[in-house]
Amino acid sequence: MKIILLGPPGAGKGTQATMLMKEYSIPQISTGDMLRAAVHDQTPMGVKAKEYMDAGDLVPDDVVIGIVRERLQADDCKNGFILDGFPRTQLQADALKQVLAEVDKQLDSVISLQVETEALVGRLTGRRTCSGCGKGFHLQYEPPALDGTCSSCGGVLVQRDDDCEATIRNRMQVYHQQTAPLEDYYRREGLLTVIDGMGDISAVQRAIVSTLQGH
Ligand code: AMP
Repeated sequence: MKIILLGPPGAGKGTQATMLMKEYSIPQISTGDMLRAAVHDQTPMGVKAKEYMDAGDLVPDDVVIGIVRERLQADDCKNGFILDGFPRTQLQADALKQVLAEVDKQLDSVISLQVETEALVGRLTGRRTCSGCGKGFHLQYEPPALDGTCSSCGGVLVQRDDDCEATIRNRMQVYHQQTAPLEDYYRREGLLTVIDGMGDISAVQRAIVSTLQGH
């Protein structure tokens, strides 16, 4: 199964990708996670990407296309993958098409998760992640038992640098200007299904799985 999850920041792409990864035994490919790892490790790419990420802008296409091209060639992508946060521009979508053609693969489905803007802001400002094990929490919807502490491993919970309100608003604008037009592109390709992402996690999950079963 070769899937793209589209949707604005906070729509639930990462959460749903984790679930699909288990369901179909295929890897989640999150360009955001890969870039954050590069920033953390202070690689030359990470140092370059950081200024864009901190501002909520898109990292240049050539950088992101390069990491996805390499990642898709890994052995674990043989039976499929879930792209989470890629493509985000028309150029990235064109590059993906070309990379897949080179390895004789085709996308099965593009799922776009729709969530109202104010709900997205609430989801993102309350989001916290464990610095130890990476588990996600939400101050309101999934609070840890002990303030600031991971309920799984006891690690310290941190907020992503780009989850402050001003940066979130810019990320939304960037999404609407540069990424939302991809919906039309994939609709024309006959691959797009729009799913209401406002429901609870398991309801959204059921809707995605039933869409994928139709493919
Ligand atoms: P995410 O974790 O998907 O919300 O991504 C966090 C940040 O990483 C974005 O705001 C961008 O700065 C950068 N980023 C992630 N994926 C891409 C992409 N496909 N193209 C350009 N920048 C990206």
